[in-house]
Amino acid sequence: MNKPWQDKLRQIEPYVPGEQPKVADIVKLNANENPYPPSPRVMEILHKFDAARLRKYPDANAGCLRTALAKYFGLEGSQIFMGNGSDDVLALCFQAFFCSEKPIFFPDLTYSFYPVWCSLFRVPYETIPLDENYRIHPSDYVRENGGVVLPNPNAPTGIGEGLDFIRQMLDANPDAVVIIDEAYIDFGGISAVPLLKEYENLVIVQTMSKSRSLAGLRVGYALASPALIATLEAVKNSYNSYTMDMVTLEAAAAAVEDDTYFQQTCSKIIETRTRTTETLRKLGFTVLDSQANFVLASHPVMAAKAIFEALKAQGVFVRYFSLPRVDNHLRITIGTDAEMDKLFAALQKIL
Ligand code: PMP
Repeated sequence: MNKPWQDKLRQIEPYVPGEQPKVADIVKLNANENPYPPSPRVMEILHKFDAARLRKYPDANAGCLRTALAKYFGLEGSQIFMGNGSDDVLALCFQAFFCSEKPIFFPDLTYSFYPVWCSLFRVPYETIPLDENYRIHPSDYVRENGGVVLPNPNAPTGIGEGLDFIRQMLDANPDAVVIIDEAYIDFGGISAVPLLKEYENLVIVQTMSKSRSLAGLRVGYALASPALIATLEAVKNSYNSYTMDMVTLEAAAAAVEDDTYFQQTCSKIIETRTRTTETLRKLGFTVLDSQANFVLASHPVMAAKAIFEALKAQGVFVRYFSLPRVDNHLRITIGTDAEMDKLFAALQKIL
C-alpha cells in the first residue's frame, strides 16, 4: 500500500530512448545517430576552448549560434529559438503553444515522445491513423483542434512529404500552431522553411543530433515568426535563463558554418541508404522508401522481434518497437558502408 505522501507524487510513463550498450565493437544502428564524426571545426573549438572562461555565465541570447543559424537559413535572429536538443525545444513548444482545452492532433504512428509530453503537461490529444501505406492525409486534420505536431519525414516510417502537403496542413489549421518536426529533414526531405514567410502559425523544429553528428552535445532549435519565438523565450525564461552552455554554443555555431562537410556526410548517408534499401529487399525484406537516416523493414517469414534478438546476439543493435502496426518491423539506422555490410552478413546467417 502507498504511504500518503506517495499518493502526491507524479505518476508518469516516460519515453524510452534507444539503448546505449557499453560493449565495445558493436554495430550500433539503433538510435539514428550519425556514423561520421562532427565537422573538424567542432573538434578545433573543443581543443582550443579555454576552461578558465567557464567561471562566467554563457550568453543568454545564444548570440554566436543565433547569428550562424540566421545566416544559414536567411532568417532574422528573432525567428530562432535554441535549446538543449530538439526534445527540449519540442517540450517547450508543447508548453508554450498547446494551452487550449481542445485536443492537439498527431499521427498514431509517430515520434513516441509526443504523448509523453502531453501527459506531462496535461495537454489533451487525439491520434490520427496513418493510411494502410503509412501515409498522413492533411484532410484528416481539418477539424477544430488545439494544435498539430508531426515529423517530416515521419518517424519511424521515414516517409517524407512535400511543400504542398505542409501548405494543405497549414491552410486547414489557420487558428492553431502547427509544428513540423524536421529532425530528419537533411537526408533528402523538403524543408518547410520557405513557408515561414507566409504562415505566422508555423513552427519548424530541427536538431543537430542527426545530420550534424552532435547528438552528444544536445542542440536543437525552432524557426518561427517573431511572435511565436518570443512566447517560447518567455516560457524558457520562466524556469531557466541559460539552457545552452558556452562550449556547446560555440561548437554548434562552428558546425553550422562548415557547410561543405555537412553536405558531404549527408550525401554519404543518402547513398548508403539507397544501397541498404536495395540489399534488404534482395534479402526478402519489405522496406519503406525513406527520406531519413534510417529505414523501416519487415520480413515476410521471420518475426521482427526474433531478428532483432538474433542480431543483438551477433553484436548488431537495431531498434524494435512493440507498438501496434510496427511490431513486426525493425528500424535500422544508416551507418557507414562497412557497418551496413556487417548487418547484411549477420542477416544472411540469421535468415
Ligand atoms: N524528433 C524526432 C522525430 C526524433 O526522432 C528525435 C530523436 N529521438 C528527436 C526529435 C529528438 O532529437 P534530439 O533531442 O536529439 O534533438
